[in-house]
Amino acid sequence: MTEPTSRLATRVKLKDAHLVTQMANIAESLPDVIRLGRGDPDLDTPEHIIRAGQEALANGATHYTHPFGILPLREAIADDIRARGGADYQPDQIIITPGGQQAMFVLALGLLNPGDEILVPCPGYNPYHQAAELAEAEVVNIRTTMETNFTITAEMVRAHITPRSKILVLINPNNPTGTVTPPDEVARIAEVAREHDLLVISDEIYAQLTFGNHRAQPVAALPGMAERTFTLSGFSKAYAMTGWRIGYIAGPPELMPALAEINHALAISTAAVSQHAALAALTGPQDCVAEMRAIYEERRRALCAGLDSLGIPYAEPQGAFYVYANVSVTGVPAGVFCERLLREGRVLMYPGTIYGDHTDDFVRMSLTQSVPRINEAIERMRAVVDAIRSE
Ligand code: PLP
Repeated sequence: MTEPTSRLATRVKLKDAHLVTQMANIAESLPDVIRLGRGDPDLDTPEHIIRAGQEALANGATHYTHPFGILPLREAIADDIRARGGADYQPDQIIITPGGQQAMFVLALGLLNPGDEILVPCPGYNPYHQAAELAEAEVVNIRTTMETNFTITAEMVRAHITPRSKILVLINPNNPTGTVTPPDEVARIAEVAREHDLLVISDEIYAQLTFGNHRAQPVAALPGMAERTFTLSGFSKAYAMTGWRIGYIAGPPELMPALAEINHALAISTAAVSQHAALAALTGPQDCVAEMRAIYEERRRALCAGLDSLGIPYAEPQGAFYVYANVSVTGVPAGVFCERLLREGRVLMYPGTIYGDHTDDFVRMSLTQSVPRINEAIERMRAVVDAIRSE
């Protein structure tokens, strides 16, 4: 008999999705698991945003919308980008997508020919790989290390360029490392992109969640970059709106209609209710973003202090809501560590291999639990680390 999975198209790679699903299944079967896995805030969408969604539904926002998205939202996004030091976009340069995630696939399918190369930071957010593979393009990993806090540099980018290079992906702050690439380095990287005529996808979905003095430079605002940059962002992280499924791409005006066609083919339009809620997110009070940032900052301090007490080194989290730690000091590979921690300690976190860590030394922990739960997670980790070391 035919092996059922052989019926899948050869482009389907189950490895990473499989691992996450397997871990989720194990977690489901256990009581009281502390979930530091998914990048899904435990915080609720602020009330005024929920109310705007409810009111929009009551007022008939139950239909498809303009394929680019409702005009007031695109205007509000253009204003928001400008107000945060970004490029000067017009509403027809902005496409609303059902999440930043779909935006990655729209961009890959719309911009990459088979054999083109797309340069991505490694470790980095893995769906960029899946999107590129679907477009039959080649992924070129730019490997970064903990010695430089996983910062990507202009020299690194330059060293990976070939005549087939077409797109450079920057994720700032980065997931899973929490790295913020310093603004002057972003400017140098932009220079390399201009020199080699690269398109840039600038993933700025965590840009409002940076800690201390760290600041993420909007790429399209740099000289000569608006014409080659696609700014990808959304509402999931800064406004705790993961379940609403809404994000956007802003890019060069002459390329957006074709990309909108792809987005239209995939989704027709983004849910009207989510667009009205996102509009309220941008035009309403912004203290909720500052409050969430402060909450993540406090959690980050608690988790890092806990890791220090365990002697587990980590990259300094400068933004986003993750801590990327090197668990090789425990004596087992990160994949084994994650599985043992889940089964024996009931703490869920993901191995860095998902994000391209080829050493199997790192784990990603999400700051999506309260400080007491994070402290409890550290104590459970301590018990598992002690058990491993005593074997
Ligand atoms: N970009 C990065 C770097 C992410 O980490 C994520 C989600 O985790 C996304 C984009 C997609 O987010 P969403 O589809 O919820 O907008």
